[in-house]
Amino acid sequence: MTRRRFIADTFTLTTASLTGDQAVHLARVLRAQPGQIFDVVANGFLHRAEIVTVSDREVVFALHEELEADAALPVHLLLAVFKFDHLEWAIEKSTELGASRITPVLARRTEKHLALAAAKRVDRWRRIALESSKQSRRTDIPTIDDPQSLPAALALVIAPTKLLLAETEQDNTITAALNTSPHESIALAIGPEGGWTAEEMQLFTTHAWLHVTLGPRILRAETAAIAALAICSALL
Ligand code: SAM
Repeated sequence: MTRRRFIADTFTLTTASLTGDQAVHLARVLRAQPGQIFDVVANGFLHRAEIVTVSDREVVFALHEELEADAALPVHLLLAVFKFDHLEWAIEKSTELGASRITPVLARRTEKHLALAAAKRVDRWRRIALESSKQSRRTDIPTIDDPQSLPAALALVIAPTKLLLAETEQDNTITAALNTSPHESIALAIGPEGGWTAEEMQLFTTHAWLHVTLGPRILRAETAAIAALAICSALL
């Protein structure tokens, strides 16, 4: 039986609470009652949980046994900042596909007004990742970093396998690169609508990133992100 799943806003070792919109939804829409059983993620672990008290402001659960849950995909996505509606779609879908971390990058060809507005959008991007985690029944929420310059973003990457998605690459396919590289954790970088500049590509090379292609067609950045993640997901 698939139970409804919630991600706790606060928790202790034995209890978890939902507050804000989640409490209102449970109390008013689902008309939750003490004694009902749901699945609740608390501190990154999935539990069977029983409602103890319900109000519009807080729903308190007693945490019961821990349940088995899938780990996130060990993929760190560096995503250049591009048109916000497309970027937000990419964040939502990357979360569904299991990315563990997303770093928005202020690339050379990120449009100026988007680069200036990006810092103010991060809270919204984190909310999108939270909602998408709930919807896709993840037990964790991906880390969404503050927007970074490219050198700062590169310094955050610890994955041994680092793949720069580049439409200029003709030969080295992402699948070939993944088949010959360690899989324990992977970083992927997707450029903005105008692509990476030659200097940025050189910087990636200096940091030991492999340039890889997704095929002969030029994909929108968000399509490239989803395709690359789906391929990693299949291989991992
Ligand atoms: N520079 C290109 C242009 O304006 O013709 C378009 C860049 S594309 C819209 C945005 C990003 O998607 C690229 O920087 C790259 O990371 C990724 N991308 C698109 N098509 C790709 C492909 N066939 N292989 C690998 N990456 C691709």
